[in-house]
Amino acid sequence: MHTPPDLLPPDLSPHAAGNTGTPYVHLLDSGRPGPTVMLQALMHGNELCGAIALDRLLREQVGAQLRRGRLILAFANIEAFLRFDAAHPFDSRCVDEDMNRVWADAVLQGPRDSLELRRARALLPFVEQADVLLDLHSMQEDGAPALAICGTQDKSAALARALGQPATLMVDTGHAAGLRLIDRPGFADPASPRQALLVECGAHWARESAEMAFDVCLRLLAQQGLVDAAWAQARLPLAAATQQRLLRVTSAWTAQSEDFRFLRDVHHLDCIPRAGTPLAEDGGRLRATPFDDCVLVMPTQRPLKAGQTAVRLGRFDP
Ligand SMILES: [Zn+2]
Repeated sequence: MHTPPDLLPPDLSPHAAGNTGTPYVHLLDSGRPGPTVMLQALMHGNELCGAIALDRLLREQVGAQLRRGRLILAFANIEAFLRFDAAHPFDSRCVDEDMNRVWADAVLQGPRDSLELRRARALLPFVEQADVLLDLHSMQEDGAPALAICGTQDKSAALARALGQPATLMVDTGHAAGLRLIDRPGFADPASPRQALLVECGAHWARESAEMAFDVCLRLLAQQGLVDAAWAQARLPLAAATQQRLLRVTSAWTAQSEDFRFLRDVHHLDCIPRAGTPLAEDGGRLRATPFDDCVLVMPTQRPLKAGQTAVRLGRFDP
């Protein structure tokens, strides 16, 4: 059971027109040279924390604070968001498909159509302008601690360290089901200076997640020199993490059957000390941890279909 939502959808209607010709996309220009930073909320329509943070930045007229560079604020899967129902909060994650698996050029430029693909195609020109991109998400597990997903490259982990938030950083191998936004060319190229972070701000609909979302936005704007550090500092809802640790994902378990189940209570960032510990059963096959000090990343708590990711496994850098 999940606790009922603490967070309710903000009223985004004042931001619907945007100022770019693309609904719900705002481009704020300082008029001075500097990086283009893109903050995105609602890749998943029911992950409200990012929408609350961006709504607040717009209401506080962040554009008037810009000292250099440009700031793009985008509310991504608006169609799903507008279907949010607090009685069925999981139902509005997407309309047709997971919007964070459609970002390969072959898919974006291909013949396939879906509501999410249409929106991704509309957002792409903004993404391509971003030197630094922050994609704000939340997780299904109650009480889950925040996690910065740095994509497949250490260069974006360096950005998360420069922000000082959150405590856990993760470098992974992407998703077999399709390319994430943070893994697009440029962001995923070690030779390119462009960086992208996906921050899982905490549990869906927890007040703390909205604070984390606002906190990392402010930290990024200050770190990139877009706003005065003092302006950001005065608004930070959270203290910086006392320590940041980097988790490297080594593998993912994909459900092979319709009856994948964990054999024990599992939680995000649980560490299983001994290799060979039985952890799940999948269509009669036992699955055990492959190495000592195996860390579980966002184990799925809900029933799975064959082919879906059940959990990812990793280890902390020493
Ligand atoms: Zn998400």
